[in-house]
Amino acid sequence: MSVKVRFAPSPTGKLHVGNVRTALVNWMFAKGQGGSFVLRIDDTDLARSTAEFEQGIEDDLTWLGMLWDERYNQSKRFDRYEEAAARLKASGRLYPAYETGEELDRRRKVQLARGLPPIYDRAALSLTDEDKAAFEAEGRKPHWRFKLEGKRVAWEDLARGHAEVDTASMSDPVLIREDGLFLYTLPSVVDDIDMGITHVIRGEDHVTNTGAQIEIFEALGGPTPGFAHMPLLVGEDGSALSKRLGSLSISEMRDLGYEPIAITSHLGRIGTSDPLEVGASVEALGESFAFTKMGRSPARYDTADLDRLNAQALHAMDYATAQPRLEALGVDLGEAFWAVVRPNLQKFADVVELAKIVRGPVTPVVEDAAFAAAALELLPETIDETAWSAWTTAIKDKTGAKGKALFMPLRLILTGQPHGPDMAAIVPLIGRERMIQRLKGETA
Ligand code: GLU
Repeated sequence: MSVKVRFAPSPTGKLHVGNVRTALVNWMFAKGQGGSFVLRIDDTDLARSTAEFEQGIEDDLTWLGMLWDERYNQSKRFDRYEEAAARLKASGRLYPAYETGEELDRRRKVQLARGLPPIYDRAALSLTDEDKAAFEAEGRKPHWRFKLEGKRVAWEDLARGHAEVDTASMSDPVLIREDGLFLYTLPSVVDDIDMGITHVIRGEDHVTNTGAQIEIFEALGGPTPGFAHMPLLVGEDGSALSKRLGSLSISEMRDLGYEPIAITSHLGRIGTSDPLEVGASVEALGESFAFTKMGRSPARYDTADLDRLNAQALHAMDYATAQPRLEALGVDLGEAFWAVVRPNLQKFADVVELAKIVRGPVTPVVEDAAFAAAALELLPETIDETAWSAWTTAIKDKTGAKGKALFMPLRLILTGQPHGPDMAAIVPLIGRERMIQRLKGETA
């Protein structure tokens, strides 16, 4: 059976590194073995879902290279959820309850005071038809709870190994709210069945939920998919990232100049035994992915690692790939230029500053006018790849300067900065005219 997974975000916010990691692990797991990836927009909550967030999700996944094979909106499938709810009602697994939030709170407090677990006492199951009619006459509307069997639900989790949840220690989950809103739990199961999802891959915060959902899969006649619950992301200091996730949106990272392959390499490889290096492509990440490489320890999201991978991705980028982007920034100065500057990039846009070294304007930093004058006098007629070595040897012989004392003043004069590209390779691009001007201390 071919693998089919789904990524099911709610369009109530921007995608952040946490949910993109979930998307990516789904994508890699499926694509690594020729399976398919479903994008399912969990938008049953019409009041909180927006078209902008939905568009943002598509844009982000596309930008990251995670294309989907099928796409659904839960908001277009309410008839399927109604049908499933009707079946569960008919079999007695979905029952109406009329307690208000305050009533439930009060009961929970009493239970806790008595040292009992605060789980729903199923009082609604003993309501008579008259009781229900009386509530309805008061204007109360029921919410609907799924009657758990209360048993050990076990599964072989691809990420965690043998997993078990005791549904006897859980409250019967509310599947439909008073106002008729389908909460996530039931639609998700209905969709996973209808769409033929073979594996549900999500964060370990869903483990308990899975116990209830497996019971719902069974109550609806299944089949029950396989499950994988991934360890959650933590920050560089090991603390939970959940509170900071809002500020780690993918759109913001795009604006900050991160390369998609750096983001996918980082998110796809943290918490696994693969080395934290940039992948050749998101497809290549998929080919090397396996749950057996994923440990039980949390995955550490570290901006310093991301920065390192970003630089790595740029240093390996060929000219054909870079060219349209160089052109868009107005700095396509040819393949030789790209080859010289790419090892100096942290972010692609750094290339704009580096282009100034070649095209100007550079304000030379001349610390020793006599040294600059001597260098100017010895400047070769032709500035080609061999010019730098011949020139600096001549300057060394004449002035006695060597090592850093020789190279740093030349770099400061010719580029205006203490760091930058390989001088031997950049001087032919700067050209003799500009070199002369800069050696004379002129901005050029
Ligand atoms: N919309 C749910 C969420 O974002 C989906 C969870 C799942 O993958 O089942 O938490």
